[in-house]
Amino acid sequence: MMILVDTNMVVLCHYTLRDGSAMGDLIESTEGGEPLGFIHGIGMMIPAFEAHLQGKTKGDAFAFPIKAADAYGDYNTEAIELIPWGAFKLEPGVRPEDIFVPGEQVPLQDPSGESFMGTVVETNEEGVLFDLNPPLAGVDLYFSGEIVDVRPATAEELAHGHVHGVGGHRH
Ligand SMILES: [Zn+2]
Repeated sequence: MMILVDTNMVVLCHYTLRDGSAMGDLIESTEGGEPLGFIHGIGMMIPAFEAHLQGKTKGDAFAFPIKAADAYGDYNTEAIELIPWGAFKLEPGVRPEDIFVPGEQVPLQDPSGESFMGTVVETNEEGVLFDLNPPLAGVDLYFSGEIVDVRPATAEELAHGHVHGVGGHRH
C-alpha cells in the first residue's frame, strides 16, 4: 500500500535548494548526507513547501519554485536595529570582536525572553548593528529532490514535535 504525504506523516526527503531557479546558485543540499526528516502539516516547514509535497509518495521526485513572499518573506528594510553595547551580557573572557563579526548570525534575546537570530551588519562605538531579517528573506527559492520515505509519525514523535531516528533527533 502506498503511504502518501499528509498531516502527521513523517517525510524523509533529499532536497537541493537553489536561488530563484533550477539554474540558480546553490543555497543548501542534503545530497550526499542524511535526508531531511520532518513531520508534515504541523508547522515545521514552509507551508508552500508542504503544499507541493502533499500527496506524494516514496520515490517521487519534486521540483518547484517558491516566491520569497511565500517562503521567508520579503526583505524588510526596517528590520535593521542598533543594539547598544550595554544590552549584551557576554560570558567572562569573551571578546565582543570575536562574536560580532559582520555576516555572522548571533542568537539574541529580547527583554521578554523571546529568542531570535540576528545577522551582524557592523559594530560601532554605540553598539552592534543587526539585520533581523531571516537569512533567506527576499530570496525566491527553488527546491528539487526526491521523497525517500513516508511513514506515520509515532505518538512520541508527535508529542515531541520532531522526527526520531534518520533525519531527526537521536535521544
Ligand atoms: Zn524527541
